[in-house]
Amino acid sequence: MARIGFVGLGNMGGPMAANLVKAGHEVKGLDLSDEARARLAEAGGTPVTSIAEMAADAEVIVTMLPAGAHVRKVYGDEDGIFAHAKAGTLLIDSSTIDVDSARAVAEGARAAGMAMVDAPVSGGVGGATAGTLTFMVGGPDEAFEAARPYLDVMGKTIVHAGGPGNGQAAKICNNMLLGISMIGVCEAFVLAERLGLDHQKLYDISSTASGQCWSLTSYCPVPGPLPASPANRDYQPGFAAAMMLKDLKLAQEAASTSGASTPLGAEAAALYNMFCNAGEGGTDFSGIIRFLRGAQEG
Ligand code: NAD
Repeated sequence: MARIGFVGLGNMGGPMAANLVKAGHEVKGLDLSDEARARLAEAGGTPVTSIAEMAADAEVIVTMLPAGAHVRKVYGDEDGIFAHAKAGTLLIDSSTIDVDSARAVAEGARAAGMAMVDAPVSGGVGGATAGTLTFMVGGPDEAFEAARPYLDVMGKTIVHAGGPGNGQAAKICNNMLLGISMIGVCEAFVLAERLGLDHQKLYDISSTASGQCWSLTSYCPVPGPLPASPANRDYQPGFAAAMMLKDLKLAQEAASTSGASTPLGAEAAALYNMFCNAGEGGTDFSGIIRFLRGAQEG
């Protein structure tokens, strides 16, 4: 069993750290919030209040932070992980952040003699609690193999996407595709409504025709065809629109720095931005169908 340091015990990191404790690891957890640290103590971990304490004897450090700036700071500050962890410590950053920050921090780890992977997740709070997350992992082969046993405790599907930053790249490419396809499916239902075509009829036809996709057949944005989709519970998330917007903005940032042409990704980011600005950031991302109906009426 390993001594694990964990930074960022929020909605996702809290249950992930609890699963590492459950698997028998010794977990020292750090968070700015007293409540988050108290929840770790309840789960059987040891809350700490400084990076020095968290990192001093850690063999593995996992971070689950809001954005790139937090990750750069927690690793790279003069009082950060690189300054306090032992050479040879395995570092796993599971935050969803921009590819450039992920690659810069990975380079810092290499210079400090530490193995590092970026390992963002999909699966949400439900997956974090159940230990069924999907991890998209970027980093050298040896670091991936070293990280796998810990990722196996927190997740079900672990995919090595290539070198440093490629976990983040995989996550934002997938979620850009998801945002675009969800808007496409919503538009098809909105048009069907105007044309007097029943939701269920469109579902039955498109789910076995060339319009088939995950947004339609696993996450249908209208109530009825799939009783488990958020559309059947007034669009409670699920996957909140604000999280989709974060990922679409990261995709646009990456498209701009890499010179990739992603006009539909840009349009999806603009639409989710308007949806969130209308006060719907906490609504499931499939709820954008309500906004598209309204937009047509305007
Ligand atoms: P959250 O805001 O609930 O948790 C982040 C935690 O980090 C907070 O508790 C905060 O206090 C802590 N923190 C921030 N700066 C810190 C610092 N300097 N030192 C110590 N602690 C610090 O966010 P979350 O929902 O748990 O998401 C975490 C990451 O996972 C994000 O990058 C998010 O995009 C990604 N993600 C979230 C979901 C989801 O459904 N919530 C799904 C997939 C990926």
